[in-house]
Amino acid sequence: MLLKNKQVAIIGGGPGGLTLARLLQQQGANVKVYERDADQYFRQQGATLDLHYESGLKALRTAGLIEEFKKNYRPGAEKFTIADHNAIVHYTEADEEPLEDIDHEHARPEIDRGPLRDLLIASLQDNTIVWNSKFSALEANGEGWDILFDNKTTAYADLVIAADGVNSKVRKYITSVERFYSGVTIVEGNVYNAAANAPHLWELTNGGKVFALQNHKFIVLSAKGEGSLSVYTSTKEAEDWAATSGIDFTDKTQVSAWFRQRFSDWSDDWNELFSTHDSYFVVRPQYYFPADQLWQTLPNLTMLGDAAHQTPPVGEGVNQAMLDALELSEALGSAHFNTIQEALASFENKMRSRASKEVEEAGQMTAGLHSENNLEYLLNFFNNFEEL
Ligand SMILES: Cc1cc2nc3c(=O)[nH]c(=O)nc-3n(C[C@H](O)[C@H](O)[C@H](O)COP(=O)(O)OP(=O)(O)OC[C@H]3O[C@@H](n4cnc5c(N)ncnc54)[C@H](O)[C@@H]3O)c2cc1C
Repeated sequence: MLLKNKQVAIIGGGPGGLTLARLLQQQGANVKVYERDADQYFRQQGATLDLHYESGLKALRTAGLIEEFKKNYRPGAEKFTIADHNAIVHYTEADEEPLEDIDHEHARPEIDRGPLRDLLIASLQDNTIVWNSKFSALEANGEGWDILFDNKTTAYADLVIAADGVNSKVRKYITSVERFYSGVTIVEGNVYNAAANAPHLWELTNGGKVFALQNHKFIVLSAKGEGSLSVYTSTKEAEDWAATSGIDFTDKTQVSAWFRQRFSDWSDDWNELFSTHDSYFVVRPQYYFPADQLWQTLPNLTMLGDAAHQTPPVGEGVNQAMLDALELSEALGSAHFNTIQEALASFENKMRSRASKEVEEAGQMTAGLHSENNLEYLLNFFNNFEEL
């Protein structure tokens, strides 16, 4: 086995990094995950995630975690409603039966980010995750690396894997290929206790998801199991808008004022999202890495997930990160390769080829969702999907 007597370090305990840790431990590898969060109980933000048969669910099956997933996914959360800027519904799956059978290729079961993270963490050996470890730098040490953290601690690893997400600090040790701005910026938030704080929109989501679109802009709402409403707005903005707008996105009043002005052609129904202080907002400009990005494989360092191939969200990111983890673990466990570098080269080639298709599809989808006729675009997309 290529990893026999080797120490593996995964930087970042998101879905990609944790899935990889589990899969490598199943092969008997020595793995540590270095995560910047203070502990497991750090509140997980973000929308619910739909896992796909051929990627996210495939990784969980191989990891022996599909039964745990079945205990934690949210039947009914996959139900989709499409509305316009006046909150008038044009399409809804609200009356359909909740998804009970996830063992078929068209199933797209939803799970909240927190429970997904928890089930992956519970599958790891004790003390695998080193919390409060914000990566700062790598220094070569023999055939491996010394890893430096902001808290002044260091660790040694023979093989380092970057799984530290969209703003990866490890990626620059692998490649200088830069990301480029998609033209779109998301303002993401969570409205806690949404049944009380945003009752009409909570009702509209009906335990599932709402996409509201009109004239170049859209809003996505997802009901989460713990009763909060995940929300994001997606609009075309200049790349430096987040920095130059002067808006403090931690100040609800300022976010609300921005929304009322930017979405002034939308009905007042949506203002409910900003009528409580029991919420948080964060601004996220959206980037791509180029579809044809290429780098030379290193003997002891690689990357996966958003660190390697970020795109604006179109429902694939977490699935691709988990599939990366599966394919990397398979390459490292394979008897076909004589060296770790050969295994990494094979993994990276496959990952880049998948990611390049993902970039093209995400580009088309992002353009459609921000077009003048974006409502019709999404309705057509769903109609075509249903006819398949
Ligand atoms: C608004 C929004 C909605 C989305 N919706 C969906 C969806 O519906 N479906 C879908 O498939 N995808 C969705 N995505 C994309 C999805 O969230 C990502 O593609 C996925 O989480 C990538 O997983 P990852 O493990 O590569 O990175 P992440 O999930 O970002 O995990 C990275 C981890 O690294 C840690 N970290 C970061 N920096 C450091 C550091 N310096 N040192 C140590 N640790 C560090 C972070 O704390 C985190 O735990 C969405 C994204 C956004 C922004």
